[in-house]
Amino acid sequence: AKIVFVSREGSEEPRVSASPETVKRLVGLGFSMVVENGAGLASGIPDADFASAGARIGTAADAGAADILLRVNRPTAAEIASYKSGAVVFAVMDPYGNEAALAGMAKAGLTTFAMELMPRITRAQSMDVLSSQANLAGYRAVIDAAHEYGRAMPMMMTAAGTVPAAKVFVMGAGVAGLQAIATARRLGAVVSATDVRPAAKEQVASLGGKFIAVEDDEFKAAETTAGYAKPMSAEYQAKQAALVADHIAKQDIVITTALIPGRPAPKLVTRAMLASMKPGSVAVDLAVERGGNIEGSEKGKVVTVEGVTVIGYANVAGRIAASASALYARNLYAFIETMVDKGTKEFSINIEDELVKATMLTNGGAVVHPTFATAVP
Ligand code: NAD
Repeated sequence: AKIVFVSREGSEEPRVSASPETVKRLVGLGFSMVVENGAGLASGIPDADFASAGARIGTAADAGAADILLRVNRPTAAEIASYKSGAVVFAVMDPYGNEAALAGMAKAGLTTFAMELMPRITRAQSMDVLSSQANLAGYRAVIDAAHEYGRAMPMMMTAAGTVPAAKVFVMGAGVAGLQAIATARRLGAVVSATDVRPAAKEQVASLGGKFIAVEDDEFKAAETTAGYAKPMSAEYQAKQAALVADHIAKQDIVITTALIPGRPAPKLVTRAMLASMKPGSVAVDLAVERGGNIEGSEKGKVVTVEGVTVIGYANVAGRIAASASALYARNLYAFIETMVDKGTKEFSINIEDELVKATMLTNGGAVVHPTFATAVP
């Protein structure tokens, strides 16, 4: 049987790449499962639960014997050195700008898959780690904002008087933004949102949010065939900023989620905009790890900028680790299941499969992904 090793991640990462449920299912597919001791602790999964699901509890040294390695994040150089040549690694690989690390994995003879490059097609929905994690991050962003906000979110009519509802503005209405809108609505806030993709307008409205955007010809063409946003022109961004500036001054909470694949996050909230908000206002920058949507936001920190509390937590899905791990583990399982023959239980990678083509970074000693192959020295 092929040996699958579930790594314990570094101290910065509370998530884990398997759950007792997926361990049991992987055993059912014929794999021999080894879970590194303590791998699930920060997600609330004790070793004993992995053991009763059918895994052997091992140490980091067991990684060297593994045929398949399940991870949340790309392995470090030291970890790569401990893997055997020919091993298959599944992780969120963060490949953009990390070409040297990809070359290192290729040189080590690893076959590696970047889960975040999974195409957004119906067949791969259950494997979509960006969606599963962004959804939870969008939820958590609202909880974090509510925690820092010194007022109530819903309107409350009490004998002692009425407390007004918070006004929440969500910038970027993709997976995270839409969940932020839904969560803020559930808490009773008055919610508005913006995006550059026209498809977002109806989705925002269907969740009870008000849509705010410059709807010119460029806006009407801003969505790529893959469903992502295009970088917008300087002219559009100036028009968008003017519209947003008026709106933001009246908001209590701003949550930004705007991303463009493979590029730095667009700067959407300036210091002047923050200064226009009421004292006690809160802003959450979910794009902080990609350069940030908010001027002055700091990765991993809660800071005060122009009187506004600006939340820049990194790895926000990791702040709701038990749920995030459960969904990430299912995403990985769903992908691996496509590589196992139901009858013979044989594991094999079909390089003609569109899911493999889209996600495979390295194979046979080379960087094979078309986006990154040419960038390697
Ligand atoms: P993302 O994380 O790449 O970006 C977040 C949002 O920011 C996007 O909606 C984007 O349009 C927006 N944005 C970018 N620049 C902006 C700017 N200057 N101002 C305001 N907003 C800006 O996006 P995502 O959450 O991954 O979602 C992208 C799309 O893919 C969405 O339409 C989503 O519904 C779709 N999707 C489809 C599937 C599927 O079909 N299986 C799965 C998941 C997501």
